[in-house]
Amino acid sequence: MLGPLGCGPDVAVFDEVADTTTVTLDETDERVPRLLSLLEELGIVGWFEWRYDRFTDDELEAARLIVMDATVLLDGIFAGPRVGTKYDMSEACKLCGAGARQTSAMVVDGESLHILEGKRAMHTCYNDILVDEKLAGALADSGATGISFRGVFAAFEKRGHFQLPWRQLCATHTLPRISPRSTGIEPYKSCSCGRSSFTTPAKLPTRLVYRTADIADTRDINVTWEWFGEVKFKGDVSESVLPYPLFLVTPKVWRIFRDAGVTGFDWLPIRVVDE
Ligand SMILES: [Zn+2]
Repeated sequence: MLGPLGCGPDVAVFDEVADTTTVTLDETDERVPRLLSLLEELGIVGWFEWRYDRFTDDELEAARLIVMDATVLLDGIFAGPRVGTKYDMSEACKLCGAGARQTSAMVVDGESLHILEGKRAMHTCYNDILVDEKLAGALADSGATGISFRGVFAAFEKRGHFQLPWRQLCATHTLPRISPRSTGIEPYKSCSCGRSSFTTPAKLPTRLVYRTADIADTRDINVTWEWFGEVKFKGDVSESVLPYPLFLVTPKVWRIFRDAGVTGFDWLPIRVVDE
């Protein structure tokens, strides 16, 4: 059905494993309304529409900070609290878990390791960033600030934990709150702490805005004060679904990922306003 619309393999990609086809078009492309009406005409349900910004290398090069958005990679590898990663909750919100401080290596599900195959960087289902050892070395050697690493272990139900040739990329610096001028970010199930649970609706491009004064003191790798995503926290970390902050990096860090041939992440420059 896509052929007659002029949507060839340059814009339509079939994913055999997920049994889905992704069509990527500019929002002004005349094929967009034709595709939407064809879907309606044929009574096809269960499709999704995303809108997001795309940037050129020059625009990314000129950015103050860049959101490293992993959500385009879909779910990521299963990891975190329910797989055995440990957290200190003493300063986290008692209701949603925002502010949880990881205290152990990152533990990922041993049954999901195929997700890492052939990749140099990947994210977990909680937006933790994992990089292979060589990329971790390149990041460490670059002198990038605000960076630390943790080990990554695979957990197998009966055989215990095995260390993987991967590192978790961690940020030591948390940014101040985003400006209310940010768009494409909505409270999802607001918690009284005000720090979670934000979501980025699919039909609105995510645009983070910061006040100039708030980004005077940043590092090459930072995380947002706001925590995103689903929350299921009733006090027991090992059964919880915790929210997570977004990573914001400088063009220097983006360049290291680009030069390593990493794909799958969306890179979204922040906008800066005076107030
Ligand atoms: Zn909370």
